[in-house]
Amino acid sequence: MAHSLPELPYAYDALEPHYDAETVRLHHDMHHKGYVDGLNNAEAKLADAIAKGDFGLIKHIERELAFHGSGHILHTMFWENMKPNGGGPAAGPVAELIDRDFGSFDNFKKLFTASAVAVEGSGWAVLACNPTFGKLVVLQAEKHQDLTQWGAVPLLVCDVWEHAYYLKYQNKRAAWVEAWWNLVNWDDVNRRVLQMQANCCCQTP
Ligand code: MN
Repeated sequence: MAHSLPELPYAYDALEPHYDAETVRLHHDMHHKGYVDGLNNAEAKLADAIAKGDFGLIKHIERELAFHGSGHILHTMFWENMKPNGGGPAAGPVAELIDRDFGSFDNFKKLFTASAVAVEGSGWAVLACNPTFGKLVVLQAEKHQDLTQWGAVPLLVCDVWEHAYYLKYQNKRAAWVEAWWNLVNWDDVNRRVLQMQANCCCQTP
């Protein structure tokens, strides 16, 4: 079953002025689609390798699965994690978890911002729940797949690849991250928290 590019949950220009329509269009239609295509291609190569019993290219295929698979997962979340007129402090169950695990929303915002701005090269800042530890963690991802804790369930992600912001913000990554906070869809984050709690873990205190 092939993966497909999900529709944006809003119009290309819906996130203006914080996120410009041209970047959103390129980012979704070209970059995200590239990861979907890359994942489908890697899965086809894997199926071929299994069918032939020839795993000579398995190292290459696994790298492609990790890169494009993670790219598709994170971008799908990224679009859903934003909405017009979003932002503000967290509310609901995620706010309770943030207060418990980081002390305050302000602490969390500073930590997440610093993590996003400091990613080396292309990558992401990620708020996740780690089910093994039963608490929230802020992680950096390099590229899409490097640097994680196994099992961590991402809840909120910020893309800091240059393709995510360069047209409008040029080299000012910190300005992009600051603008991104105005778009955060806390309803979507809470939907993910409730889903995670229903499935396993990270119960609200
Ligand atoms: Mn991206």
